[in-house]
Order: sequence, then C-alpha cells, then structure tokens
Amino acid sequence: MRQHTELEKLSAQPVQSADSFAGTFALQPNKVLKSEAEYGRIMANLGFGTDFSDYMAHATWTAENGWHNKEIAPYGPLSLDPAGAILHYGQEAFEGMKAYRHDDGSIWTFRPTYNAARINMSCRRLAIPEIPLADFMGSIVDLVRADARWVPSAPGSSLYLRPFVFASEAFLGVRAATRYEYLVIASPSGAYFPNGLKPINVFVDRDYHRAGPGGMGDVKTGGNYAASLLPKVTAHDAGFDEVLFMDAATNTNIDELGGMNVFVVMADGSVKTPKLTGNILPGGTRSSILQFLESEGAAVSEETISLASVVDGIQSGDVAEMFACGTAAVVTPIGRLASGDFDVEVPVGEKTAAIYDELTAIQLGHREDRFGWLYKIADA
Ligand SMILES: *Cc1c(COP(=O)(O)O)cnc(C)c1O
Repeated sequence: MRQHTELEKLSAQPVQSADSFAGTFALQPNKVLKSEAEYGRIMANLGFGTDFSDYMAHATWTAENGWHNKEIAPYGPLSLDPAGAILHYGQEAFEGMKAYRHDDGSIWTFRPTYNAARINMSCRRLAIPEIPLADFMGSIVDLVRADARWVPSAPGSSLYLRPFVFASEAFLGVRAATRYEYLVIASPSGAYFPNGLKPINVFVDRDYHRAGPGGMGDVKTGGNYAASLLPKVTAHDAGFDEVLFMDAATNTNIDELGGMNVFVVMADGSVKTPKLTGNILPGGTRSSILQFLESEGAAVSEETISLASVVDGIQSGDVAEMFACGTAAVVTPIGRLASGDFDVEVPVGEKTAAIYDELTAIQLGHREDRFGWLYKIADA
C-alpha cells in the first residue's frame, strides 16, 4: 500500500456540514446582478476563466485583527496601493477547485479539505498567515450559495473556484508583509474538451526549470507559473501545447507540466508518476487517481522517472500511454513528446479515457463515492 502524504491525511479528517459553515462570510447584496440576457449569453457559451459570477468572497488580515471583514461582496475590481507588496515581491498563493451540479440540482465540490490543507502548506512556505479551516470552508460555501445560479449543469461543466491570498501592505522593504487579502472568485466553465479528450503535444524543456531544490516547486504560487511562461511561449511558437519540466538538480528526470502532474501508463497495465520530491506540486487529481487505481488492484507507483526511460519506453512499446492531470482539465492525453534530440508519438489508449470517466463519474455523483471525496454545498 502506498503511504498517504501529510496532505492526504489532513484532508481525510471529518469535516462539518456546509450548513455549519454558512454565514461565516456576511452577504453584501449585489444591487447590479448580471442581467438575464448577459447571464444567458455567458451560460450558453461557457469557456474557461473568461466570465465571472456576481459575487466574490473577501477577507483581510492584519496583525491586530487577524482575519476579519469576512464578506461575500459584489464581484468587481479591487483597490490596491501601488506599493502593495504582491506587485513587487509576489507573495501570494492560490487554489483551484470546482463546484458541480448533480442531476437532482444539488451542488457539490470535491475534496475541499485537500485544498484547505494545501493553501495553508503554501502559506507556510510563503510566510503568509494561515487561513483557518472554518474560514476556508465558509468562503466556499457562502460564495457558491450566493452564486448558485452560476453552477452550470451541461455535461463537463462546473463553476471553477479560485481561492487566493496575497500581501497587500504598502511597503517596499523586503520582508513578509503585515497585511493580506484572501479572496475567492468563481468562473462558470465549460468542458475543457467539448469534443472528447484531445491529445496534446508536449515539449520537454531542459534549458528552463519551473522550480529547483529548496525553492517553491511544491507550492501553489504565481511565481512558479511566471517561471513557466517563457518556455511555454517558446514551445507554443514551435507548435506545442504544453511544456514538461525536468528536475532542476540533475536535468535527467521528469517532474511535471507547468500546471499539471504527469502519469505514465505501461504496456503491462501498471501506472506510474514522478514521486513528490519537493519540486512537484502535490495535485489533488494526482492523489485521487493514485488512490482509486490502487483500490482497484492496479500496480501504481510513485518513483523517479528518467526522461530516457520514457522515450525508450515509447519507442520500444513498453510505455502504452501518457497523460497530464489537474482540476481544470481533469485528465489530458499526451500524444507527442519532443525536445531537441527526439520527437516521438505517444500512443493514445483506453486507460487514460477510463481514468477520466471514473474520476468525472465520481465528481458528478454517477458512481459511488467510495472515498468520501464529495462534499455537499447546497440542496437543489
Ligand atoms: C494546481 C497544480 C497542479 C494540479 O493540482 P490539482 O490539485 O490536481 O488541481 C499540478 N501542478 C501544478 C504546478 C499546479 O499548480
């Protein structure tokens, strides 16, 4: 049996019902809700991360008052001092989650305590004050209840939730800030691949790394994404969709994509993913896939995976499939892997699609929730 990570253990602890968290963030009614026409236009053309709901959750931290002014406020621009520390030193952390509409109209989310534990892991590394579990859960419950009309029901759609916390103190000295803002915004989103799973082309970058030993590779923070953008632009220009980053210490082992973990499916049916070294973000999707595959008796392993073994395996047929995974896209097959000195086509098989189907079926309540991952936010 694989050992559970600290995050997995924390997120497996029992958590109270949504009703017990409701009201943590006080509702400030929005007097200019989006019109029925605009609402209809948005919900009929769901993209990803382009449209936002009527509300946002917001709280402020100061040394005197801790987290206070917890509100569900009308969605809109923030006012931020130009000296705000986030703009200069990037002290911030974020999360990505989804709220799903089940067939009976009720609204659910998936492993919210994993995200709650992870944002606090990120906060600790970034010297940001932690967000109490009750405040994190309250922000999600109160926001989604206020924005319930924005939880879509079309196949593959969801209300994407983006909790984030950043340093707002106006001060240019370099130290941990003394004021922070915590927010959750919500974006109705359509199926990532409306026409079924579409394989992506992946460039393996050995010149740039997204993170290095002792850095923030296992922390969900904007700085890692900033480091991944130039490689991504370069790869895009060369016809690739995504970049696979290597471990910075040896430049021989695969780590993950800029915002998704990576899995390798072997021809013998076993499944492996790079082990968490401190440079790899501990994805909730990664964790869920490992847990349900293991429960079904599949041989799963977390190990050091050299790039050479992957490329050789693809060429010899030992590697049957590869996929990337994360909350936004769930599971994405990798159809091509290339770098300066190799360019190989990765077969697209049925295992990736089966994993996608199983995970989305649990999330939508179409399959038994054997692990207790679903969390009910609101009744129909
Ligand atoms: C968020 C993220 C993932 C995926 O995590 P999930 O919890 O599965 O959404 C993977 N890699 C990076 C770098 C990330 O930021």
